[in-house]
Amino acid sequence: MTTIAENLAQIKSTIPDHCTLVAVSKTKPTSAILQAYQADQLDFGENKVQELAQKAEELPKDIRWHMIGHLQRNKVKYIAPFVHLIHGVDSIRLLKEVEKQAQKVNRVIDCLLQVHIADEETKFGFGTDEVMELLQSDELQSLHHVRIVGLMGMATNTTDQSKVAAEFRKLKSLFERLKTVKNHLLQINVLSMGMSGDYTLAISEGSTMVRIGSAIFGSRH
Ligand SMILES: *Cc1c(COP(=O)(O)O)cnc(C)c1O
Repeated sequence: MTTIAENLAQIKSTIPDHCTLVAVSKTKPTSAILQAYQADQLDFGENKVQELAQKAEELPKDIRWHMIGHLQRNKVKYIAPFVHLIHGVDSIRLLKEVEKQAQKVNRVIDCLLQVHIADEETKFGFGTDEVMELLQSDELQSLHHVRIVGLMGMATNTTDQSKVAAEFRKLKSLFERLKTVKNHLLQINVLSMGMSGDYTLAISEGSTMVRIGSAIFGSRH
C-alpha cells in the first residue's frame, strides 16, 4: 500500500504547474489531512459544511478550504469567515446569500458557478445557456462581496472516454466565452474539472483545477 505523501507526489508529477490540486478529504480524519499537509498540500476540499467547519477549526490556519459540495443557503454563514473558494454555486439566491454573509465578515468570497454537463439527473448546476443569461441579470450588478472566478463541472460517471471528453470540452468552451464577458463581478481564471477517475482527461481538455480524493486518501466507505 502506498502512503498519502507518495500518492500526492505521484499525482503532482503528472499534473502541470498551472493546474491546482485540491485534495478532497471528505469523510477522512484530520490525521490524514495532516499527512498531506506535511507533504506541502495546502488546498483541501470538503462537501459538507459542518465537517468543513470542524476540520478548519482543528487544523492549521494556512490551509485553503474549498467547499465542493452542494451548499444550502442557511449554512453559508458557517464558512463565510474563512472559506477559500466555493465551487458549487448553482443559483442566484445562493450567490446573494454568499454576498450577504461575506459582507458581514468584510470579505470578498471567490465562487465558481457549477454547470451541469453530465447526463445524470441528480447533479446540481446551471445549464450551459443559463450561465450567460445569469450574467446579464440586473440582480447581479449590486453584488460587491462575491467574485465569480470560474466554472466547476462533473462529467458523467462512465467508462466512455469520448463522452467524458465531450462534456469537459463543453465546459471549457463556456469558460472561454465567459472570459470575454465584461462585468465587475467576473475575474474568470479557474476551470474546476477532473476527479480521481478522470483528471488526466480533464487536464488534457483544459482543466486548471482538479479535485482528487480517493486517489490520494484511498477509497471512502
Ligand atoms: C467527492 C468529490 C470529488 C472527489 O472524488 P474522487 O473520485 O474521490 O476523486 C470531487 N468533486 C466533488 C464535487 C466531490 O464531491
